[in-house]
Amino acid sequence: MAPIVGVLALQGASREHTAALEKLGATVHQVRLPQDLVGLDAIVIPGGESTTISMLLESSETFEPLAELLNQGLPALGTCAGMILLAKEVLDGRPDQKSFAQIGIAVRRNAFGRQIASFETDLKIQNLDQPFPGVFIRAPGADILEPSVEVLASLKLDSGEETPVFCRQKNVLVTSFHPELTDDLRLHQFFLEHL
Ligand code: GLN
Repeated sequence: MAPIVGVLALQGASREHTAALEKLGATVHQVRLPQDLVGLDAIVIPGGESTTISMLLESSETFEPLAELLNQGLPALGTCAGMILLAKEVLDGRPDQKSFAQIGIAVRRNAFGRQIASFETDLKIQNLDQPFPGVFIRAPGADILEPSVEVLASLKLDSGEETPVFCRQKNVLVTSFHPELTDDLRLHQFFLEHL
């Protein structure tokens, strides 16, 4: 049976994730309210603005029920702002910004600079033969906090330091970049294959 994947649709690039997942045969439910969480096999938290998504999760009373499902092991993919929302630590978030703390990384928002530092670059991703088009938009960087976090791709910062941009811990996947803004479905496919 096709998996039922929730795409958090409070703000940000939810439509593009929906299109990619549907192309791969998944059934997609847009999640805006607690009742939209019923029956999901996985959840995608899109890019956008993590502070705004955090605020809307609270005001729609969706934060707590989603946190509970994630704590019970609901598989998750978080891209960009979604990565920030899934990280155990947000180093420079707003004090009232909440996170689901599902992957043992610390994120720094806008690690590649602000809007001007949005860019596209080919990424070498573990287990993918061909490079993946990485679209970075005010993207976060990550520090690994727990040894069980796998780094599947990383990228050099202006400082010359490498930062992880695609990580996995158990069934939680996060990317600093936006696979949903490309025609390349390999990352969504990888997510669906590992549910
Ligand atoms: N910089 C944004 C944030 O802090 C994330 C940007 C994005 O999702 N494209 O939430």
